[in-house]
Amino acid sequence: MKKTGFGKTAEGQSVEMVTLSNSNGCEASIITYGATLATLTMPDHQGRFADVVLGFKTLEEYQRNPYYIGSTIGRYGNRISGGKFRLNGKEITLARNNGENNLHGGIKGFNAVVWDARENSTAEGEGLTLGYSSADGEEGFPGNLSTEVTYRLTKDNTLRIDYRATTDMDTVVNLTHHSYFNLAGEGSSSILVHRMMINADRFTPVDGRLIPTGEIQPVRDTPLDFTKPAGIGERIDASHEQIRLGGGYDHNFVLNRKDDGLVPAACVLEPGSGRVLEVWTTEPGMQFYSGNFLDGKMSGKSGKPYTRRSGFCLETQHYPDSPNRPEFPSTVLKPGQEYRSTTVYKFLTE
Ligand code: BGC
Repeated sequence: MKKTGFGKTAEGQSVEMVTLSNSNGCEASIITYGATLATLTMPDHQGRFADVVLGFKTLEEYQRNPYYIGSTIGRYGNRISGGKFRLNGKEITLARNNGENNLHGGIKGFNAVVWDARENSTAEGEGLTLGYSSADGEEGFPGNLSTEVTYRLTKDNTLRIDYRATTDMDTVVNLTHHSYFNLAGEGSSSILVHRMMINADRFTPVDGRLIPTGEIQPVRDTPLDFTKPAGIGERIDASHEQIRLGGGYDHNFVLNRKDDGLVPAACVLEPGSGRVLEVWTTEPGMQFYSGNFLDGKMSGKSGKPYTRRSGFCLETQHYPDSPNRPEFPSTVLKPGQEYRSTTVYKFLTE
C-alpha cells in the first residue's frame, strides 16, 4: 500500500491518494475526497496493462466533476422524485440538484466530502476502509448516518467494495459506486464496441425526468434485452421510447435472483483487448448508464476529452425513487439495523 498527498480542499482538509496493488501488478488508487476510485489498472489478453476507469489528474478537477466520475454515491444513489418522500407519515424535503429531483445524494453528496481512511489489508488482498459520518439533516436526510466503504484488490484481479451504514433515526440509504469503465483503456474514445450481458429479465421504465413510472417491464423484444451478449452500440440509438427518454441507456435493471446473496449482474467484453469485466452484487438492481451526459468539456488523466459515451457505469443499487414507491424493495434503515451491501468488479481476459 502506498499513500501520497493529493492536495487540500478550500476548507483546508488534506486529501490523500492510497494505492492498493496485487501480485499480478494490478493497481487501484483511491482518493479520500469522495472515496473516489481514481485508477484501476488491469492486463489485456497479452498481459499489457491499461487504466480501465475514467479519472482526473488533480483534486481541483475532482471537485468540479459534474459527472460523478469514480465517486462513492450517497446517501441515496440515483433519483428521488421531486426531492421529497414520506417516512413514518412525515414529509421529508431533500436538497434538489437535478431539476426538482434529488440526484446522487444532493448538492453536496458523499462524492464531495473528505472521508477518513485506514488500511485494512487481509490475506485476501490489500484493502482500504473509508469512513464518513453524515449529520442528521444533511441534504435533508434524517438521522446521523455513519458509513464505511471498504475497497479490496484481491489476487484474482477483483476489486471488491463492501458498504456498511448505521443510523440513529429512521432514514433511507442507497449507496453505490460511479466508476465509468472503458475496457480498452480510459481515453479510448467509444464504449460502443463493448459486448454487454446483463442478468436481468426485467427493468424499471422511466418517464421524461428519468424517474421510474412504477412499472416493472420485461426487457424482451426491447433494446434493453442484454440477456444474451449484445454490442452496447447496436441499439443505443434505436427509436424505442425508453432509449429516447434515456438518451441511450440510463436504466435500472431488475436483477434475476433467487436469494439475497451475491449474484452475477453483468459481464462485459471489449473485443480488441480481450478484457472482460464481471459484476457481482448483493443489490436487487443495477443502473446501466452509457455515459450519455459526458460532453467532452473535461479531459481525463491522459489528456483526452471525456466525450459522450466514452465510459459506462454499472451502478449496483436499490431501484431509483424507492422512498416514493412502497411496491419496490425498501431502502429504509432503522436504528439497531445495519445496512450492508457488496459489489464485486472482477477482471478476466479471453
Ligand atoms: C445517472 C444519470 C446521471 C449521471 C450523472 C447516472 O448514475 O443514471 O442519469 O446523469 O449519473 O453523472
